[in-house]
Amino acid sequence: MLDSRYDVVIVGSGPAGAAAAHALRGQGLKSVIVEKATLPRYKMCSGILFPRAKKLIADAFGPLPKQVLSEPACVYGNRANLTLGGPIADAPFSIFDADPSLDKDGVSVKRAELDHWLCRESGSPIVDGCSFDDLSRDGEDLVLEFRRDGKTLETRARYLVGADGTRSSVRRSLSRDFEQKLRIIPNYEEWYVGEIDLEPGWLYMFFDERVTGYFATVFHKDGHIIAATGGRKGEPVRDCFGRFTAYLEKQHGLVIEQTVNRTGCGVHDMAATDNFFPGQQNVLLAGEAGGFNRCGEGITSALLTGRAAGESILHAAQSGGSASEPYAAAVADETEACKLVNQTVESAVGLNPFTRD
Ligand SMILES: Cc1cc2nc3c(=O)[nH]c(=O)nc-3n(C[C@H](O)[C@H](O)[C@H](O)COP(=O)(O)OP(=O)(O)OC[C@H]3O[C@@H](n4cnc5c(N)ncnc54)[C@H](O)[C@@H]3O)c2cc1C
Repeated sequence: MLDSRYDVVIVGSGPAGAAAAHALRGQGLKSVIVEKATLPRYKMCSGILFPRAKKLIADAFGPLPKQVLSEPACVYGNRANLTLGGPIADAPFSIFDADPSLDKDGVSVKRAELDHWLCRESGSPIVDGCSFDDLSRDGEDLVLEFRRDGKTLETRARYLVGADGTRSSVRRSLSRDFEQKLRIIPNYEEWYVGEIDLEPGWLYMFFDERVTGYFATVFHKDGHIIAATGGRKGEPVRDCFGRFTAYLEKQHGLVIEQTVNRTGCGVHDMAATDNFFPGQQNVLLAGEAGGFNRCGEGITSALLTGRAAGESILHAAQSGGSASEPYAAAVADETEACKLVNQTVESAVGLNPFTRD
């Protein structure tokens, strides 16, 4: 249950929320993570920790426990196909982040387990099954409204971190106008028991417009083959997905013995259009909520900006100023990193996957 007052309320239990909570740990501020789903919750994601995210987690949270790791655990990089039937080229992780101190390989994880573990390791209390609804102000207090079991709950806080993902309700509570101008690209995935002639340990990416309005991916995880694609404008995403799996059957010997999971979600175009929204005053937006995503490598951005949100709040609590000022400075590097990765993909692929028609 929620208390009547906190110093910091963090909405969302993904990597951004966990990193914010971790940065606040043991610093004397009363904080809570509030999550709308029941934990552990499924998040549609390839679940690949790119080398930077791997290091951020190892440095702050320690070694990944066994239950978090998927099979095969090691991911060697991306493999990209620009035109159906054309070559598939290796695209190692170092293309996007050339820091020599990073491992070459990524690691494949179960997102539900990873995120739940990160939140528990942050030491913060967690209230799940509780959805942020709206925000008002009363002097210096933020008055926060939540829904739980069909009832409205209210709490107060000095600082709020919106770490509530792509369709952030905290962001919407700050500006409904901003929300209306976002492009949301539908994504759809299926998990199969079956066979395919693509190698485990690689994330295969397909960019041809016949099978995606964004990009399409195939990879192996925990004994399954997972295929996903983003939809094209003016067409149901399932139609595009059908063409993608038909292509995989024909070109890569996909045999579907059983379909074990079907999921959809939306991705926004904020980073790809340089339209970041880090928040206002003492309300900070971290991770996807703020638009931070390195063209698909969103866990890294979420960890970095979540941590920056926590640290900026500590700074503001000491100085008495607003948290958004130190936060704007703290996320400047990550904003540039997101833009650079998007530009790198755009020049390699010849188009921006988030803004193509
Ligand atoms: C198909 C796909 C594949 C991807 N693959 C990768 C990958 O392999 N590697 C990678 O680095 N990135 C990947 N990403 C991106 C990555 O999943 C996201 O960038 C990352 O999860 C962002 O973390 P976050 O903490 O900002 O938000 P999230 O992880 O989305 O967490 C937000 C949390 O907030 C909760 N929430 C939402 N609304 C409310 C509310 N009103 N009240 C309370 N709680 C709320 C949600 O339930 C959720 O738990 C992928 C994304 C997609 C769509």
